[in-house]
Formats: sequence, C-alpha cells, structure tokens
Amino acid sequence: MSYMNKTIEEIHEALVNGKVTSKDLIKESLEMSHKVQKECNAFVTIMDDAKETKVTDELLSGIPYGIKDNYSTKGILSTGSSNTLKDYVPFFTATSIDNLSKKGAVAVNKTVLDEFGMGGTGTTGHTGVVTNPWDHSRMCAGSSAGSAAAVAAGVYPYATGSDTGDSIRKPAAYCGIVGYKPTYGMISRYGLFPFASSLDHCGVLTRSVKDAAIVVDGMKGIDKNDMTSWDSADMHLYESIDGNVKGKKLCYIKELCDINMYPNADDELKSHLENFMKTCEKCRELGMEVCEESIDMTLLSAIPSVYVVISCAEATSNMSNLTGFIFGPRAEGDKWDVEMKNYRTKGFSPLIKRRFVIGSYVLQAENKDRYFHNAQRVRRLVVDKWNELFEKYDAVILPVGSGPAKKLEGSKDALDKNTAILEDHLQIGNFGGFPSITIPNGFVSKLPVGVNITGKCFNDIDVLNIAYALESIMGYKNQIAKEVK
Ligand code: GLN
Repeated sequence: MSYMNKTIEEIHEALVNGKVTSKDLIKESLEMSHKVQKECNAFVTIMDDAKETKVTDELLSGIPYGIKDNYSTKGILSTGSSNTLKDYVPFFTATSIDNLSKKGAVAVNKTVLDEFGMGGTGTTGHTGVVTNPWDHSRMCAGSSAGSAAAVAAGVYPYATGSDTGDSIRKPAAYCGIVGYKPTYGMISRYGLFPFASSLDHCGVLTRSVKDAAIVVDGMKGIDKNDMTSWDSADMHLYESIDGNVKGKKLCYIKELCDINMYPNADDELKSHLENFMKTCEKCRELGMEVCEESIDMTLLSAIPSVYVVISCAEATSNMSNLTGFIFGPRAEGDKWDVEMKNYRTKGFSPLIKRRFVIGSYVLQAENKDRYFHNAQRVRRLVVDKWNELFEKYDAVILPVGSGPAKKLEGSKDALDKNTAILEDHLQIGNFGGFPSITIPNGFVSKLPVGVNITGKCFNDIDVLNIAYALESIMGYKNQIAKEVK
C-alpha cells in the first residue's frame, strides 16, 4: 500500500488509526526520492537518515516532505542550487522550517531550483536540469522545479517553494498540482536565501487546496527576525475552508484571455484559453459571478520590464554578500579582490551574471531615476489597478502561462513577444503581495495546465475557498503525474 500519493488528511488518518507508522512513510518517501532522482533529477540532497516523529493531533506530524534548497537547514547542505554555495552547511534553520518541525513534519530531501530562484525553467541549477514527470522531454518550469516534480510524482504530499515572480505557481501548473503563495509576510522569510526582497514570498506546492492551507498554517507566523512578517494567529486557513462561494464575484482580464488578442495563436494556446473559459463557466455553476474587465495594454505590457528592473536591482544588492570569504568554496587568488572575482566568475551561471549586469546598470546613480524609480512608479500603478479590481471583485481568475510545459530542447530564458504578458502576469501577485494560488485546469496536448486565483492582501481565505470549490467540481484533486511519453 502506498501512502505518499494521498492527501495530508488521508495520511494523517491512516497514522492515527495505526494503519501505517511514520517510519513506514519515511521509508516509502525515501524510496520514491531515489526513483524520482533517477527520472527527474529533482534533488540536491536526499536525507537517508531522516528520523520518524511522534504522531500527534497535528495534521503534519509524522509525514515526510521536501524543502526547496534555498531554505537554510541547520547541519544540512543548503546550496540555492548554485556553485557559489555548493559546500555551504548553515548553522541555523529558516523560521518556517522550524515551525514545520514543531508540528512534527519530517523533511526527507532538499529540492533543486533555478540558481537562487532566478529563472523559470528548472534548467539552471548547479546539479543539472530537472525534467517533468509527465514527459521527461519537457521542463517543470521554475524556479521551484524539484519541489513541483517531486510532489507531482508522489514522493510526498507537499514541498516548500519560494515565489518572487511565479516560481511556485508556474511549476505547479506545468506539473498538474497546486501552488500557493500567501499574502506577503504571512510566512517569515528568515532563512530563505533572498533574491528580491520586496517580491520574495515563501509558500508551498501540494496536490490539494486543503493541503496547501494545512501547510501554510504550519509555516506561518510573526517572526522577530523578519520585519515584514505580521501576526496571523487569528487566521486559521484550513479550518476556514467551507467551499461556500455563492455570490462571490470574479473577473478575468480580456486583454489576457481573449483568443483574438493573439493573432498567431497555435492550437495549444487556443485549447488553453478554451479550457479557461470553460472553468469560468464552472465558477458560474458554483453560484459565482464572473465578469470581463479590460485593462490598458500599455500598463499590462510594462509588467515584464518592471519585474526585470526591480528584481535584478534587488538581486544584485542582495547577492553582494557572496564574496567567497564568508560562505562557499574559497577561490584561487593572491589578493582578496582577485579571489573574489574568481569566486563570482566561476560560481555564477551566465544567466545570473546577466541579471547582475542589468541590476548594476539600473542602480547606477545616473540611471537610477530613469529605470529603477520609474519601475517602482509603474509597479505602484499596476498594484493600484489591481486594488481597484478588488474593490469590485473577490478575486481575479486567469490562465497560467500560454499552455502546457514547454520542451526542454531549445529552451531559453527569453520571452516570446506575443505571449509575454500571459507568461508573466503572475508577477502582479508579487508586486502587490497578493495571496495567489494555482490549481490544475485540465489538459492540453495530454499535459496539465493551470488556472490562477489571486485576491487582495490578507484575503487568503476567499482565495482558498474559491480554489477549493473549483477543485471539488473539476476532478483533478490529488493528481499524480502519469508519464505520457
Ligand atoms: N521566472 C521568474 C524569474 O526568472 C520568477 C522567479 C521566481 O519567482 N523566483 O525571475
């Protein structure tokens, strides 16, 4: 009997009724980890010595899970999937991981990401490419690629992720699972390697909406070590899910969802948008109202550039502490500056270096107002626009990406101009710190695609409830990847 392909609620029940022990679950999860490592290359570290915990009333007790490798874990290699930290063993654990341990959760592996979370393909980690368990010739998206592959393949019911632009919600879509980033600051980021601090969120990848709520309940909490964290002790996400969504109001954005906006649309994009429209119909069947809104294309088109400027600027500044003296392998050199240059030149992949060049350029005194400050101004306009929508609507519903997982061959970190906004609109959730969840939305070319629901800050409960109601009638709950090729 396997258990790792079940939901947290089901596994907990089996543990409480003595049908299985925490030790059995760990054994199963570790065996699956080794199998999925061979197939998908999803892990930096597999913790073969993981120890069982006592089963208590806590839903997470005794159950294995995975940790994205940009979360610090005391005494366990934490690389951020970068050569610059390939031997780094932290002396402290991220607060959110400590919180999970207090509930009795058992970590069994550390998952591969795009180097330091900078990327959307799952191909740039220092341990190599992560492949999609549905089709190994395709990517998982990124950056939480290993977490998504492992959850989809049934290694465990959940893995942590981080999301600066879409890094939880895009891989979730490509792997046919759930990805949830709660409101900015609900989960402490102390111990999460910083990428772009004003956009970074912790979150989770699961196979059901309720599981996502259970895990975030376990990770969240105010933390003196993260001044952006806030007290959510009165918010019980899991207990608040009742599936009652009658009268809720949703909107989608015409410029993103109308097939006529894409003159060169291929069949995959067409089916993806058709699926999306069918899902809007399902929302109506559930008693929700779904309206179309129109947003100025000039504003929408600015989103990818605003993201690039702000995220690269913040990343350049955050990663200036990677000198090779404090963390990571020491480089060769007879002088400190030569040593530092060698460390950074050899350690970072070309993609990261390109981003540091952009970041340094937009932060230079003579360029700062034109690029960095203007990007902040446009970010404000986008957030204001979305907050206006949230005055009328409980949530915005949109398709994730332009279709199913892309082929690995020929993949680049470049944008297709035609679908750039569709690929990147999830970044709005990071601009505003909005709670945002992706759930499976059926199939295109036999591969999973996703739909996203985003709400206003602190309104996580509505977002989860809408996602839960939809999940209940869509039939993709707790979906495990079945290889199609
Ligand atoms: N794909 C985006 C990027 O390349 C988002 C990454 C993320 O959310 N960490 O930066």
